[in-house]
Amino acid sequence: MTTQTHHVDHELIQAAAHVARTRCRGDNHTMAAAARARDGRIVTAVNAYHFTGGPCAELVLIGAAAAQGAYDLDTVVAVGDRDRGVVPPCGRCRQVLLDYFPALKVIVGEGDRVRTVPITDLLPESYVWADHQLDAE
Ligand SMILES: [Zn+2]
Repeated sequence: MTTQTHHVDHELIQAAAHVARTRCRGDNHTMAAAARARDGRIVTAVNAYHFTGGPCAELVLIGAAAAQGAYDLDTVVAVGDRDRGVVPPCGRCRQVLLDYFPALKVIVGEGDRVRTVPITDLLPESYVWADHQLDAE
């Protein structure tokens, strides 16, 4: 675990909270996520709940960012609807986020205790998919 302190991107939290407040509807869309791309812009998304395993907001966000040409994300945060505040990524999202963006930072914590941590801190001793891909030949 690293002990360095990272700046908390409150504008990013507000962007996710705004989407959670204004775009989440019913049981299909209950979580919003926002990411700061390396070029500074903010990309947002909501989850697409489905009993077959519909993607969390963080996963929709990866595709939404790519659709806008943002392939490198710096920081991500998820916020729940109905004023639930910042919600940490689930295990599946931690693994996907780590594989896509090994240097990603994630905002976690509640209220005035929100903090920014490296994705690697959220998945210690993690499986790195790329390390286990054998050459095709
Ligand atoms: Zn998830």
